Amino acid sequence: MKNEVSTLFETVVDGGYCIGCGVCTAIKNSPLKMKLNEYGVYVPYIIDESNKENFNIPVTEVCPFSNNKEDENTLAQKKYGEYCKYSDEIGYYQGTYAGYVAEGNYRTMGSSGGLGTWVLEQLFSKGMVDYVIHVRANSTEEKESKNVMFEYKVASSKEDIRNGSKSRYYPIEMSGVLDFIRKNSGTYAIVGVPCFIKAIRLLSLQDDLYKNRVRYCVGLVCGHLKSTRFADMFAWQFGIEPGKLDYINFRKEISGNPANQYGVEVRGLAPDGKVVHGIKPVRELYGFLWGKGFLKNEACEFCDDVFSETADLTIGDAWLPQYLNDSYGTNIVIVRDNELSEIIKEGMESGQLHLDEIPYTEVVRSQESGLRHRREGLAYRLYLKDRAGKWRPNKRVFPKKNISSKYKLIYKVRMKFVQVSHSAFKIAVEKKDFEIFKSLMEPHNQFFNYLYSNEYTERKKRRIYLKENN
Ligand SMILES: Cc1cc2nc3c(=O)[nH]c(=O)nc-3n(C[C@H](O)[C@H](O)[C@H](O)COP(=O)(O)OP(=O)(O)OC[C@H]3O[C@@H](n4cnc5c(N)ncnc54)[C@H](O)[C@@H]3O)c2cc1C
Repeated sequence: MKNEVSTLFETVVDGGYCIGCGVCTAIKNSPLKMKLNEYGVYVPYIIDESNKENFNIPVTEVCPFSNNKEDENTLAQKKYGEYCKYSDEIGYYQGTYAGYVAEGNYRTMGSSGGLGTWVLEQLFSKGMVDYVIHVRANSTEEKESKNVMFEYKVASSKEDIRNGSKSRYYPIEMSGVLDFIRKNSGTYAIVGVPCFIKAIRLLSLQDDLYKNRVRYCVGLVCGHLKSTRFADMFAWQFGIEPGKLDYINFRKEISGNPANQYGVEVRGLAPDGKVVHGIKPVRELYGFLWGKGFLKNEACEFCDDVFSETADLTIGDAWLPQYLNDSYGTNIVIVRDNELSEIIKEGMESGQLHLDEIPYTEVVRSQESGLRHRREGLAYRLYLKDRAGKWRPNKRVFPKKNISSKYKLIYKVRMKFVQVSHSAFKIAVEKKDFEIFKSLMEPHNQFFNYLYSNEYTERKKRRIYLKENN
């Protein structure tokens, strides 16, 4: 008879749908642990294959990409359904805002408007939680021993919380911090991307310890997660080979540039042992375009939650024309929980926050392309999986075949980018040559660029004309 652990592996893990969140390790007596695989992506593994005793613990019930009873709608409806409005795109909401933190240096320290760190600090300093769980850089010693630049960590002081600001486009997993929560009573706030927050909600349904201790979830708007190789890909273009990177800031503000034209800052060692430190506009770096999805976690292709719909409050970038020109960065904010709503309103009244109330449709507009990829694009990917007779998770989006021929091709090339980039980078690392990565990506890159070119549009017009006039 199938047990829970083998079902998880045969469906989610082997199918390429594991996001590597680590929640499956947190159920009591879990036989699983997390490790980075050869592509720099976290996956679970079985600690002791011979010990089948604990193989029936409900790992599929907490996995955000398995077919469990709950989805983002049912989870969020229970928490916010009574008093929030609902939209198909952003989920439940009671307030939607755009702006930034006006006090202190939260905004310059943060990636967008600094609200992430500010809200977490408010929860802590008001005594609403004892600890904050967020993602911080490892020390040089930690980096050397664990071979990762960033990790989920527990913050127990304002200084710790502030040291966690900035977006880490880097894989992280929660097994360590979930173990900390189990062993240390107290209350916690956690920040995470949508599927990680969903996983926390699922875990809280299975185990009251997490339900009682994790009091607030702050969600990030999410495009997708990257492998560790994304940081290496940038660093290599500064002359820092993989393994020699010591520091990376994925979101360095460049004064005078629009907010979405930020820089990437790195420090590490060149092959001759000299220290390299540099900043380049992200658009000058190969592989920067998020729409292409280089080194993306494959599971993200099967996500339908852009706005962390199960979080008490969600923050993202205000990618809207009226805010883009401000290089310091602007947040969009979706408030769901009542207590967090009070904190935001108090912050606005006191002048600590500079926020405009905006219609929810503006929040939707700020993430148009991400939404298209996770609605129409996902529907098409689900259709392709079904056609191939492969297992895939149930989503809130239904499979759809009939979309425009151009977008069919765009979604197919994006899938190719995800598949090919991981193995191409591995080969480049083995051969110690970044150009190999580029040459393996180039055929797909060129076709993708062609789909957005005038040549494609002209040819398409010609085909339509000939068809209509034949
Ligand atoms: C992988 C990823 C993809 C994203 N995609 C989009 C997108 O497509 N569109 C969009 O509008 N916004 C996206 N964001 C969110 C955006 O980059 C900012 O994080 C967000 O706007 C908050 O900025 P801030 O200045 O308010 O927060 P800050 O004050 O900088 O605080 C950010 C908080 O997030 C935590 N954090 C950083 N990295 C991670 C991580 N990987 N996992 C969990 N917590 C983390 C930090 O520890 C800190 O507590 C993404 C973020 C990540 C990490």
